[in-house]
Amino acid sequence: MNLSPPAGSRRRIVVLGSTGSIGTSCLKVIDALPERLQAWGLSAHSRWEELLQQVEHYRPRYVSVTDPQAARAFARHPLPVETRLLDGDDAIGAMVSDPEVDVVLTAIVGAAGLTGTWLALQAGKTVALANKETLVMAGPLVMELAQKKNARILPVDSEHSAIFQAMQAGQPREIHRIVLTASGGPFRGKKREDLANITPDQALQHPTWSMGRKITIDSATMMNKALEIIEARWLFNLRPEQIQVILHPESVVHSFVEFTDGSVLAQLSPPDMCLPIQYALTYPERVDGPAKRLQWDELRSLNFQQPDLETFPALRLGYEVARRGGTCGAVLNAANEAAVSAFLEGELSFLDIPRVCREVLDHHHYSEWPTLSELNAQDRWSRQEVLRWITAKAHSRIR
Ligand code: NDP
Ligand code: MG
Repeated sequence: MNLSPPAGSRRRIVVLGSTGSIGTSCLKVIDALPERLQAWGLSAHSRWEELLQQVEHYRPRYVSVTDPQAARAFARHPLPVETRLLDGDDAIGAMVSDPEVDVVLTAIVGAAGLTGTWLALQAGKTVALANKETLVMAGPLVMELAQKKNARILPVDSEHSAIFQAMQAGQPREIHRIVLTASGGPFRGKKREDLANITPDQALQHPTWSMGRKITIDSATMMNKALEIIEARWLFNLRPEQIQVILHPESVVHSFVEFTDGSVLAQLSPPDMCLPIQYALTYPERVDGPAKRLQWDELRSLNFQQPDLETFPALRLGYEVARRGGTCGAVLNAANEAAVSAFLEGELSFLDIPRVCREVLDHHHYSEWPTLSELNAQDRWSRQEVLRWITAKAHSRIR
């Protein structure tokens, strides 16, 4: 049976964050499926030279550069005739709301990704969501908007894609719990005392996944899994106690869904983001694509272990924030972003990342039903608090 779509009905894809790890994997998927997918809009922040190469190759309808300095450099270069450069505050909004756009892949890192996701949902678009921070910050508001606008959110995060795929074997009410798998990052098996002097270079060595710097550090602290607990809670409308985490060093099983009758379904594939990206872009169809396949003759064993909450206290924060909701997600997310960037700059130790997040979370002004502008204000406050905490700590060392 020929499953190819009829000519002229290629899905038009906007890739927000096209120069990043997810963005470039997405373009690889588009390259492999030219009869189905078309790059319609590309956005980047600072890497304008890479973006220029992408524009020359894909000749999209729209392109945008968000960092002002990079935008000036980019604007000096001629573009293909069919490509329009969008600038100004509304550039992303104009790109994602073009009536001809079918899917918006949101692969900007951090809280900066919220606006594009929000505007895409507001325009009623299908969102292929890689930017988990969107749901961590504003899960209930984002899900409400998607429902109101009849817009679909398809997960790209590999665990959530796995859960979404396995969930199709039953009804939402038949789900007993989900089990998120975690590689454990480069420090799996280590104890707290082993982690006191970890350098950014050590923390950036992920054993199974090749990803952007921020999420790689999040994997090393296991904050990534904390953010994924919160993401899953809102995306699938689960109670926090229905979400479990298990370590799985091989990163082959991408998560489990346990149904009420005790049956457990999993999704397996090698650690390669092309597959969850492709599934979100071609959903509900499955087609041959560029993702690596499991080599069954090389597969020796699949291991599972309980996570160590003493060494990786970030996980506790994830459960707590998933339980409390309200402003907690925005505060945890912003504190973590600020802490990770301070760690990468050599201004904060590895163990201080979850420590400062805990402090900021405990001292914030909690509100149960915040608006989007309140969440943005909490985000700004949390980043300042992290800087204040680092300065206070440096002063106490000098004294
Ligand atoms: P990268 O750091 O590799 O890429 C981030 C992208 O966002 C780049 O295109 C970057 O542009 C752009 N960007 C950065 N800051 C801004 C900003 N302030 N405004 C607009 N655009 C910005 O990240 P990843 O691809 O690794 O991750 C992207 C998202 O996907 C994250 O939310 C992450 O949690 C999630 N994710 C990633 C996975 C992975 O395997 N990498 C797996 C699951 C989820 P430029 O490079 O031009 O500066
Ligand atoms: Mg993940």
